[in-house]
Amino acid sequence: MTTLENCLFCKIVAGTIPAQLVFQDEDITAFYDVNPQAPVHVLIIANTHTASHLETDDPTIYAQVLAGAKKVAQQLTLTDYRLVINNGAGAGQSVFHLHVHLMAGRPFAWPAG
Ligand code: 5GP
Ligand code: ZN
Repeated sequence: MTTLENCLFCKIVAGTIPAQLVFQDEDITAFYDVNPQAPVHVLIIANTHTASHLETDDPTIYAQVLAGAKKVAQQLTLTDYRLVINNGAGAGQSVFHLHVHLMAGRPFAWPAG
């Protein structure tokens, strides 16, 4: 597992910063967003550090986070949810450890704003 000492989400994986976990296994960690944008807002990350979608070349990471998002939906018995990946500060990325947002519990506009 690759971790970065100064990465907030690596610290959540390691347990040195607390988070409300949905689940964790050897590959991924899912935890509630501290500033939720929907009644249910969970972040799914690979335990291995990769900065962003664009900077990640390992398809295993993509598979892990998307499969992890499905596991969250199933665990929370959600059938209607939105998955979001922000890539780059201009698109709203603020934590540079690749993560999928899973949001549910309210209507979502489409096209998205
Ligand atoms: P981004 O803006 O990078 O796509 O998403 C980062 C998310 O991480 C934000 O929604 C933000 O609320 C969340 N976040 C930032 N710091 C923490 C933290 O310390 N704990 C948790 N659980 N979420 C955090
Ligand atoms: Zn990290």
